[in-house]
Amino acid sequence: LTKSLKSSGLHIVHIAAEMAPVAKVGGLGDVVSGLSKALQKRGHLVEIILPKYDCMNHDLISDLKELDMTVHSYFDGQQFGNKIWVGIVAGLPVYFIEPHHPGKFFWRGQYYGEHDDFKRFSFFSRAALELLFQSGKKPDIIHCHDWQTAFVPPLYWDVYSSKGFNSARICFTCHNFEYQGVSPASELASCGLDVHHLHRPDRMQDNSSHERINPVKGAVVYSNIVTTVSPTYAQEVRTAEVFVTGGRGLHETLNFHSRKFVGILNGIDTDAWNPATDSFLKYQYSADDLQAKEENKAALRKHLGLSSANASQPLVGCITRLVPQKGVHLIRHAIYQTLELGGQFILLGSSPVTHIQREFEEISNHFQNHPHVRLILSYDDALSHAIFAASDMFVIPSIFEPCGLTQMIAMRYGSVPIARRTGGLNDSVFDVDDDAIPVQVRNGFTFLVPDEQGLSGAMKRGFKLYMRNPDAWRDLVQKNMAIDFSWDSSSAQYEQLYENSLARARKSSREN
Ligand code: ADP
Repeated sequence: LTKSLKSSGLHIVHIAAEMAPVAKVGGLGDVVSGLSKALQKRGHLVEIILPKYDCMNHDLISDLKELDMTVHSYFDGQQFGNKIWVGIVAGLPVYFIEPHHPGKFFWRGQYYGEHDDFKRFSFFSRAALELLFQSGKKPDIIHCHDWQTAFVPPLYWDVYSSKGFNSARICFTCHNFEYQGVSPASELASCGLDVHHLHRPDRMQDNSSHERINPVKGAVVYSNIVTTVSPTYAQEVRTAEVFVTGGRGLHETLNFHSRKFVGILNGIDTDAWNPATDSFLKYQYSADDLQAKEENKAALRKHLGLSSANASQPLVGCITRLVPQKGVHLIRHAIYQTLELGGQFILLGSSPVTHIQREFEEISNHFQNHPHVRLILSYDDALSHAIFAASDMFVIPSIFEPCGLTQMIAMRYGSVPIARRTGGLNDSVFDVDDDAIPVQVRNGFTFLVPDEQGLSGAMKRGFKLYMRNPDAWRDLVQKNMAIDFSWDSSSAQYEQLYENSLARARKSSREN
């Protein structure tokens, strides 16, 4: 196995289901690579363990090679071999686990949405720990993410620590409390967890379906550090539902464990998202060369067959998974509102929900040759960069939003966000017209009530400034492009959490 690189910092291992750009579905993938890179830059040894999906973007892995070892891991009463691959992604060492299991767990042509996701990812969680254990690694921090790897904390403390594999503190980050992996209790046994021991109200029993277990709850209970991805969302999930936000049944658990629970706003990968060097763009640009941004707008209009008659007609972008969380009815409304206000609209989005995908296909067909509206209902990384660069405004009308990355990417590309004040949007988008906010941090247009009227109000204010006061608009764009959305300060906060937790562990081992 690759020998641990020399490092005077901590040894941190992320275990995750996604990592951009090789295996990305949404923000989780961006966070795993962005945070890891930033921690590596701070002098830590950071490694990542991922499933070896057939559908990964293999071209983006350098030096991919199979290790001369098979890691055997337990599942359903048997031992299964796992082939281990190692490669470099975005400058980071990544281990890929390829199970030799008849279920062909990561050979499905997609990342999630399989009938046996619970099995696939509980298998992966166990195999990842087994890899660390068998290779003799002694990480300081094991950082797992979302329900897919939420099995790691209970497995670590209940199964591995008694084997002497106990050097690490466990950090769990929940990127979205909507997805908790709740399943029948009996399924937990497959990965070697003790159902009888864990199916209890203070451990993994789901707070509403008592006959089921909840992996995210288990991770909250069993981890040393629990984080979520923005301070406002950390508050929201500790309350019962407001609109549809809230802890999705976990608010009491989170309150009980509030001393180890904190919200840290995600950063963005400012190397990957940099309009001055972005190779997906026709014309690179920076805050003092906004002419090239205009040229990207013209190029995208041409590419998508939109009207170029009025160069200064505002272009509104939206890039999102089309799921109820994102306020799909408001996204639809934004299309019509944009037309009414005299703008152009480009939506890039796809939906795992059949009826939503169908609804947007109908809208897309309706606007098929329209000069001012285009809907692209697929996942397209290259096009997403072009839209961030071309758009003047960017709508994010989320019903709830743990952090949200697109508002930050948009600002870095000089597209002004129009966002609902919730979760991480509330921590990063500050209304231009809000006198209660210091002028220097105001950067977009926000609304609180998630209805058409609320969104329209914010859009109208955005269009008014754009159309009536081009100088003020340009100043706003330039100011937004200079905001520091890098991982620098957030990764420092994670580092502090890791170090505090390790110090507590050392102190308590001295006392015992
Ligand atoms: P979430 O994690 O809930 O999907 P985020 O805003 O945190 O939302 O992250 C979404 C990320 O996925 C952003 O980088 C965004 O650009 C990207 N994205 C979403 N939908 C698409 C799509 N259809 N094509 C390309 N990129 C997309």
